[in-house]
Amino acid sequence: MDFEYTPEQVQLRKAVREFAEAEIAPHVAEWDEGQIFPLEVVRKLGELGYMGSIFPEELGGAGLGYIDYSIIIEELSRVDGSVGIILAAHTSLCSNHIFKMGSDAQRCHYLPKLCSGEWIGCWSLTEPEAGSDAAGTRTNAVLDNGEWVLNGAKTFTTNAHHADVCVAMAVTDRAAAQHGISAFIVDSGTPGFRAGKKENKLGLRASATGEVIFESCRLGPCQLLGKLNEGFVDSLKVLDGGRISIAALSIGMAQGAYDASLRYSKLRKQFGRPISEFQAIQHKLVDMAVDIDAARLLNYRAAWKLDRGMRVTRESSMAKLFAGEAVQIHGGYGFIKDYPVEKFYRDVKLCTIGEGTSEIQRLVIARQLLKS
Ligand SMILES: Cc1cc2nc3c(=O)[nH]c(=O)nc-3n(C[C@H](O)[C@H](O)[C@H](O)COP(=O)(O)OP(=O)(O)OC[C@H]3O[C@@H](n4cnc5c(N)ncnc54)[C@H](O)[C@@H]3O)c2cc1C
Repeated sequence: MDFEYTPEQVQLRKAVREFAEAEIAPHVAEWDEGQIFPLEVVRKLGELGYMGSIFPEELGGAGLGYIDYSIIIEELSRVDGSVGIILAAHTSLCSNHIFKMGSDAQRCHYLPKLCSGEWIGCWSLTEPEAGSDAAGTRTNAVLDNGEWVLNGAKTFTTNAHHADVCVAMAVTDRAAAQHGISAFIVDSGTPGFRAGKKENKLGLRASATGEVIFESCRLGPCQLLGKLNEGFVDSLKVLDGGRISIAALSIGMAQGAYDASLRYSKLRKQFGRPISEFQAIQHKLVDMAVDIDAARLLNYRAAWKLDRGMRVTRESSMAKLFAGEAVQIHGGYGFIKDYPVEKFYRDVKLCTIGEGTSEIQRLVIARQLLKS
């Protein structure tokens, strides 16, 4: 075992932190208030190689591993979780589904542009009636004259309104339940495909989340992604990696809240001294630091295993479950918008919901424990 970052990882963290402080921090409040999608920053992230960090260089990626990828998401989310989730949904869900299950032609067509940030990706599994029970998908795809015709609506799709490429799951054999769902790649501009209502969210407001609608949307046979009827099973594999990115999102936001809390506790004076001198406040800081370290270690274990091609269903679920809890120390000031922690508090709620709720993580971990 080796618990040290490599010199390259130390450098990567420094570079992403500097980028986030310079390019994101000054705009966070404005983007959050106005629900403004930070398109310019996304393009810059692409130029820096962060939009395709985990994919091979020959496909336009940076050829990095999941620990590096976690570092990138942590550092972006430390400043703005919205940027973290935009990158996570784009990379772990859309691009990775194409990378893992796509044909050579699909990989070569889509990944270079997704990795460069020229194209933004989204991934649509959830539907109004199919959330935790995602196998309850109703959107359907039927073959007509050699083309797939999709009808239905997805909900809660991150990046829906800015995506050039959407990976969407649709029923292709209703009788076969979860073995009757397939994945499709849909290009923006395809007739019958559009983003619908954009949600007005509690947190992560600079990221766009909303409906994706299919109305007699015709796709050529080469838009089928992976094997016919295996799209749902493939989605579960994609989510194993996705949960590492949601854990990194939580860890980054917790780190941001902790850094702000530590700073504040040294500046805020009550009873004639900084509140950091009170043992009760020190204990809160200690608990936060321990939680963040534990979450990070859980997540790096999952990342380490995934980099070695091992299954990480249990490990990534544990990391996401543990990391999804938030802490704050600002008292009443933490509830007003002059301080950054109120935003972390709102934003981090997503981490107990997206890519499987905390209840579902417990269910997944219990299944894994009972199997052994
Ligand atoms: C900001 C945001 C971004 C998202 N991005 C995406 C995205 O890009 N793509 C995408 O496909 N989806 C996305 N989602 C959807 C997300 O994955 C779902 O919201 C999540 O899976 C929960 O589904 P649901 O909201 O329908 O809740 P439900 O499944 O209706 O759950 C309601 C409650 O019941 C509990 N529950 C349900 N089943 C069980 C059970 N068997 N045992 C115990 N408790 C249970 C849940 O834990 C929860 O507490 C996003 C959601 C949000 C909020």
